[in-house]
Amino acid sequence: GSVFAHLVQAPEDPILGVTVAYNKDPSPVKLNLGVGAYRTEEGKPLVLNVVRKAEQQLINDRTRIKEYLPIVGLVEFNKLSAKLILGADSPAIRENRITTVECLSGTGSLRVGGEFLAKHYHQKTIYITQPTWGNHPKIFTLAGLTVKTYRYYDPATRGLNFQGLLEDLGAAPAGSIVLLHACAHNPTGVDPTIQQWEQIRQLMRSKGLMSFFDSAYQGFASGSLDTDAKPIRMFVADGGECLVAQSYAKNMGLYGERVGALSIVCKSADVAGRVESQLKLVIRPMYSSPPIHGASIVAVILRDKNLFNEWTLELKAMADRIISMRKQLFEALRTRGTPGDWSHIIKQIGMFTFTGLNPAQVSFMTKEYHIYMTSDGRISMAGLSSKTVPHLADAIHAVVT
Ligand code: PLP
Repeated sequence: GSVFAHLVQAPEDPILGVTVAYNKDPSPVKLNLGVGAYRTEEGKPLVLNVVRKAEQQLINDRTRIKEYLPIVGLVEFNKLSAKLILGADSPAIRENRITTVECLSGTGSLRVGGEFLAKHYHQKTIYITQPTWGNHPKIFTLAGLTVKTYRYYDPATRGLNFQGLLEDLGAAPAGSIVLLHACAHNPTGVDPTIQQWEQIRQLMRSKGLMSFFDSAYQGFASGSLDTDAKPIRMFVADGGECLVAQSYAKNMGLYGERVGALSIVCKSADVAGRVESQLKLVIRPMYSSPPIHGASIVAVILRDKNLFNEWTLELKAMADRIISMRKQLFEALRTRGTPGDWSHIIKQIGMFTFTGLNPAQVSFMTKEYHIYMTSDGRISMAGLSSKTVPHLADAIHAVVT
């Protein structure tokens, strides 16, 4: 018999498994609201025009080679990524006290940052929001950190439990690491206000808590790259240290290219240099060096003023379509007289709406309406279109009445 005969069949990933189930359903009205990827009004994946242009430039350039990148990735990409997230005028960049390494999208950036902290930071506990993206606890546990949660979402208001958040972070041991969603919190779509961010910053700095920002949706929440980076820039402006994981999956539509960056803002250029040398020791045995293609696309777009401007317009168009889907769904429920307060659909931010539907209701909607979503009631607004909103509204109406 096989030496692996004792293995049990592992469950599907709770998020990716939704698409597996969707693909098996032959119904013509089936709707996949589980996937965290942008879709056009026609329900199709979108390759941005600027990405096509950048790829054409890369193809036309016959001097390009396919040698290995350095362990830290494409250096120009790293510099441009730091500028994008921290702002061109950032004191940390000016003072050269930041190190940025190209990683495998947001997930890889979180994993490398997590392993670096587990190896070199005195506190091994990371606090993540309750709830959070399902991969977070697994990434940080495998990185060697101890994962704990802090209160974040209030089911009663379908908004932020700010008091609970302050209490939990206030009670965390000094120096603990805190994972913060920079914008468009996944899965709840609930973000602190700028005033609340300022209170969080003051509390964290006063307790010496280490901030680790997960920025998977810069520009996708508000439509503005600068607005969505504001919380991070507040934490950098005070001169303190922090980590930032960036992903280009959503905002440049580069999902499968796996392109992202980890930045560590330090107190001095000297420390930043030593941090980078240790990051290389984390990366080298993990995957040696990152891929070249996606980072090259990003560098072409970020370095060229015209392409950059074109990108911001395409990004804004994606964000606007999602916001429009929120309004249409909200209106459709109002028209049907669906019981309950559904204003959270238009108040929440980013790709997802945390509907408040429970697992039994989700299961009913899948069975009777062929609508697929994660069992926590999270729906991807990007998976909706004007054509499919009525079907979703009918299903929600049926399940709550
Ligand atoms: N962080 C959050 C909160 C996310 O929602 C995602 C993607 O869904 C990621 C990180 C990482 O995505 P990727 O590894 O595709 O960049």
